[in-house]
Amino acid sequence: MKTRNIKVADPHIQNLASLLSGPNPILYKKVDLAAYDCDGFTIQRFLPKAVVFPENTEEVAAVVKYCAENNLPFLARGAGTGLSGGAIPLNGEVIISLTRMKRLLSVDLENRRAVVEPGFINLQLTRSVANKDYYYAPDPSSQYCCTIGGNVAENAGGAHCLKYGVTTNHILGLEVVLPNGEIMEIGKNGIPDEPGYDLLGLLTGSEGTLGIVTKITIRLLKNPESKQTVLAYFDRIEDGSQAVSDIISAGIVPAALEMMDKIAIEGVESAAFPVGHPRDIAAVLLIEVDGIAAGIEEQIEQILEVCRNRNVREVRVAKNEQERERWWANRKTGFGAMGAISNDYLVQDGVIPRSKLPQVLKKIHHISKEHGLRIANIFHAGDGNLHPLVLFDSRIPGETEKAIEAGSACLKACADAGGTITGEHGVGIEKKEEMRFVFTDDEITAQINIRRVFNPDNLLNAGKMFPTPGRCAEIKQELQKK
Ligand SMILES: Cc1cc2nc3c(=O)[nH]c(=O)nc-3n(C[C@H](O)[C@H](O)[C@H](O)COP(=O)(O)OP(=O)(O)OC[C@H]3O[C@@H](n4cnc5c(N)ncnc54)[C@H](O)[C@@H]3O)c2cc1C
Repeated sequence: MKTRNIKVADPHIQNLASLLSGPNPILYKKVDLAAYDCDGFTIQRFLPKAVVFPENTEEVAAVVKYCAENNLPFLARGAGTGLSGGAIPLNGEVIISLTRMKRLLSVDLENRRAVVEPGFINLQLTRSVANKDYYYAPDPSSQYCCTIGGNVAENAGGAHCLKYGVTTNHILGLEVVLPNGEIMEIGKNGIPDEPGYDLLGLLTGSEGTLGIVTKITIRLLKNPESKQTVLAYFDRIEDGSQAVSDIISAGIVPAALEMMDKIAIEGVESAAFPVGHPRDIAAVLLIEVDGIAAGIEEQIEQILEVCRNRNVREVRVAKNEQERERWWANRKTGFGAMGAISNDYLVQDGVIPRSKLPQVLKKIHHISKEHGLRIANIFHAGDGNLHPLVLFDSRIPGETEKAIEAGSACLKACADAGGTITGEHGVGIEKKEEMRFVFTDDEITAQINIRRVFNPDNLLNAGKMFPTPGRCAEIKQELQKK
């Protein structure tokens, strides 16, 4: 144990600091803690008790053990880009920040895998192996800053997950600190399909409620030989959505199939990466196909044919890599671009069967009218993962509550269409109540029982994922305090 010269009345601060080896290993002053009072879900804010910065697994385990023994609530945090409030310290938690555990530990191209610490940044992984012609497939739009640990916790998706699968399909092994401080290894040596329960599957997407991930073995893929990217503009949103279904029904699985509607286009064209989308268009599809060069042209021709049959107004094929990259930057910065046209926005994350796209988009349009708020749509159309972005102005009294209600109504529309309430952003605190749209009380209880096995005292990330009574009242009270 190190002795730290920290003058503070609370002995836990001194004790926690003494478990850590790095410089400035703990934040405990209110002014510093303010930066950790929320994540990408900014509607609710709570101050943590402290933020600690472990440098390795043993230090994570020591902090967790200390918290468990002293009945202190705690949670893990990566980059804090989560959009459902998973890293918000609802109960004044000790936040265990994984940002100093950011090493690439090994790359094994022969077996197509790499081992990283949880704070390693998603995009950095692809950049680290690009010169060897490999990449890491899951590509959340936040990939330039979100961590692989956060991706595992949220089972993150991304534009290219349509063809290649989401995070869970690319995780081969995990090292996890359990809520009592024990260290557990799952998927030893990255061998797939271990006998016994699928603990890798269970931990991936468990939103930091079952353990803290401290090491991750991931799958690397070889770069495709060739890729082509297309923009297709539609005057009617119904035609654009129908083209999405038609492309997949034609037996083509594009690497990515993204859609933006008119309001979204207004946002991205007003922000940092405009690409000249026509402003009067109802919808644009961004379609990418990849694979063996010989088959690409044929697939593009088939896609163009489908689009023509659905009254496409204009089609552009990327002329070079630079243009392709610019189109992707335009799409991937789409959420942030809403800041150019609205004071605030709330991102939703429903999933629907692809065939229900036209009907659900129409419903979202009605919800927008009913609530008197604009709703933009930017989404992974190929896998039916909708992101309605509810635009609002928190400075106008009552508008935040209206936005929350509109967001929830969008999720209800997805659930009613046979879909679900989150595709990739997780439930967190934001969608706890909406879990009731898709699960019965018994099904929710069964999941809570699983959490109890790992996290019996519920000190790790309590109050997330599962409904508690009176969520709306909780949020309203918080808003009234401001
Ligand atoms: C502009 C923008 C675009 C986005 N686009 C996408 C997208 O395309 N696809 C997508 O899936 N998401 C997207 N997101 C959401 C977000 O980036 C992802 O959920 C991401 O996986 C969160 O990573 P993080 O490091 O920021 O985690 P954090 O926000 O820090 O944490 C998220 C959750 O994971 C838990 N956690 C973090 N690290 C660990 C760990 N090591 N062990 C256990 N639990 C842990 C936390 O407790 C919390 O519950 C976007 C966010 C933004 C702001």
